[in-house]
Amino acid sequence: MADELPIDMYEGVAELFGGGDRRRTVLSPPQVLREGTKKTVYLNFMDLCNTIHRQPDHVMAFLLAELGTSGSLDGQQRLVVKGRFAPKNFEGILRRYINEYVICLGCKSPDTIISKEKSQFFLRCEKCGYRRFVVRVGRRKCRI
Ligand SMILES: [Zn+2]
Repeated sequence: MADELPIDMYEGVAELFGGGDRRRTVLSPPQVLREGTKKTVYLNFMDLCNTIHRQPDHVMAFLLAELGTSGSLDGQQRLVVKGRFAPKNFEGILRRYINEYVICLGCKSPDTIISKEKSQFFLRCEKCGYRRFVVRVGRRKCRI
């Protein structure tokens, strides 16, 4: 029994620091600033898209739909949205995006791609081959 303890501890630490067998994608928190009184600028939006390997258009469409606002990328590739939002507003939505459109349910790997097959979208895992159907952004009628 006593011999098992160090292994458990090691696994706990490995998970905390993203080591071990599970590779974790570490996302930098949204850096947000207000522009005037009616706009919010998400400064490191492109960093996020690069980290999760998703098209900025797709991520943006989801974000804007969930925030219920409009917005666009500016000349410096920053996401400018209408309205006042806090970093935690973006974070909560991004978490949902990642759960729905990035993370593999089979092995929890973020190394996935979205492919279109016969007008339906699928998320396929590069690691384990797991495949699942994903809902198109903008067609989500009810929220869970
Ligand atoms: Zn997988």
